[in-house]
Amino acid sequence: MPLFQLSETTVSYGDLEALKAISLTVEQAEKVAIIGPSGAGKSTLLKHLYEQNPQQCSVINQDFALIPQLSVFHNVYMGRLNQNSLLKNTRNFFFPEKEKITEVKKILTELEIDDKLFVKVAALSGGQQQRVSICRALYHDAPIVLGDEPVASLDPKNAEVVIDKLMHKDKTVILSLHSVELALKYAGRIIALKEGRVFFDAPAAEVSDSQIKELYGK
Ligand code: ADP
Ligand code: MG
Repeated sequence: MPLFQLSETTVSYGDLEALKAISLTVEQAEKVAIIGPSGAGKSTLLKHLYEQNPQQCSVINQDFALIPQLSVFHNVYMGRLNQNSLLKNTRNFFFPEKEKITEVKKILTELEIDDKLFVKVAALSGGQQQRVSICRALYHDAPIVLGDEPVASLDPKNAEVVIDKLMHKDKTVILSLHSVELALKYAGRIIALKEGRVFFDAPAAEVSDSQIKELYGK
């Protein structure tokens, strides 16, 4: 059974069809990049996939969706609030357990932001906040990672390090990416959207320059 199966799926906002009769399947452990011009429907597709199976998905939002007044630890810890009791969560909120700190720190170390553990998110740069939002998704640890332009705020070097890490997880990973170069280098499969339709859907190794030109051209 595929993890996701869309068959002639149309998603509309009022009269506007953002996705038009999309058919695709995604199998477990696939590494997929969604590319295409702005307005093509990438965010809508990710949102629709999330709605198919919210219990199984960790999400990296385009706008980070962090709580700026709280520390990095607290924001990442929230990735697992659903896995603990309210009592435990409340206690950890005020008196974080050593074990929880260690768990969170391990993930922060992976993204090289462990020096910010108890810094307020509001005091971080955009790129650091984006890494915190990725850490929260990794800490949440669901089998499917959905990311909407998860490295848009990082410099090219850090963006590459993060995409490399995400694409080598033992999970199903589906990311919309602004950078075609990163998509082709790290994803196994490229789904290209244009004007709400699948323009092509192919293994990354088979995508040609002319297809990319056509995708972003008029
Ligand atoms: P992308 O992520 O590829 O830039 P989106 O999925 O955000 O594309 O948008 C696809 C289309 O749907 C665009 O025409 C956009 O203007 C429209 N759209 C997106 N979100 C909304 C919304 N909440 N209400 C109305 N139209 C929307
Ligand atoms: Mg978008």
